[in-house]
Amino acid sequence: MTALRPETAETQQADAPVDRQGPGLVALHESIATLLASRGQWRQAYQHLRSALDLVHADQVEEPHVPEQLRREVELLRREHAEAREQSLRDSLTDSYNRRYLDQRLMDLLTEHGACRHGLAIALIDLDWFKQVNDTFGHLLGDRVLQRVVELLQQGLPEGAFCARYGGEEFVLVLPRVDAATAVEIAEAARERVERHPWQDVAPGLRVTVSAGLAYEPAADEAPERPAVGAEQQLLRADSLLYTAKQSGRNAVAYRADGRVRLAGAASGRRAIDETRVLGYY
Ligand code: GH3
Ligand code: MG
Ligand code: MG
Repeated sequence: MTALRPETAETQQADAPVDRQGPGLVALHESIATLLASRGQWRQAYQHLRSALDLVHADQVEEPHVPEQLRREVELLRREHAEAREQSLRDSLTDSYNRRYLDQRLMDLLTEHGACRHGLAIALIDLDWFKQVNDTFGHLLGDRVLQRVVELLQQGLPEGAFCARYGGEEFVLVLPRVDAATAVEIAEAARERVERHPWQDVAPGLRVTVSAGLAYEPAADEAPERPAVGAEQQLLRADSLLYTAKQSGRNAVAYRADGRVRLAGAASGRRAIDETRVLGYY
């Protein structure tokens, strides 16, 4: 059993880790090995792990000084690793988040949603008549349109919200911790930004609009009897509402309120055609 000693400046100094400037050499070798292994550089990872083991087996009382070069190597690897990870979650054309990020975040959010019971809105957004844009103005201009649309969709999103490319010319706005009315406002404002953008400046005669289906999952205290839904089901609901928005004439946001499908803002005067593809509606 270790005897308890009074804490004095002297004992503190004796018990303190030898390397006060940062992680010790063993930990650094381990860090490098982990980073290299995550990049599939197994041989180099093994060498660093070997070095760490050698140090441990040498049974050193004092850890040796960590060479500056090794510190820099770890720093560089960490930065590269973080950048590579961020890139793997982005769509290369539009720089919005990609499907992988969307799936991961939705899983997290729904767990949090289940536990903390915040409202969660998902808007599935699809460019209108985009095939015609490509056919008329060319695929390259179509690509530029997609990039611009993402910029417009992302403008002024509340904290925690994000835009991800769902695939092709479809995007998803994820709006955590908002109430239903705010979610409709945000989605409608995004639709309006796209409609009002001076597309003529990009190419004479170009006009771009989007349609959206907005599925809202309320917090538990808003609807205690409502069964919780998974991300896939909420996306299916958004997809079904998107279909309604398209059917109603496009350039519209469709959502459900008080058991009825409605169109937001400027399109609210149109008749919202009820979903023909009703998928597990509440
Ligand atoms: P709707 O209003 O019904 O959605 O009509 P749409 O023409 O937008 O729909 P459709 O599904 O017929 O066409 C989608 C088009 O989107 C076809 C495809 O070539 C184009 N597209 C998908 N991904 C890209 C891309 O990365 N770049 C470009 N330029 N076009 C793309
Ligand atoms: Mg589409
Ligand atoms: Mg489309």
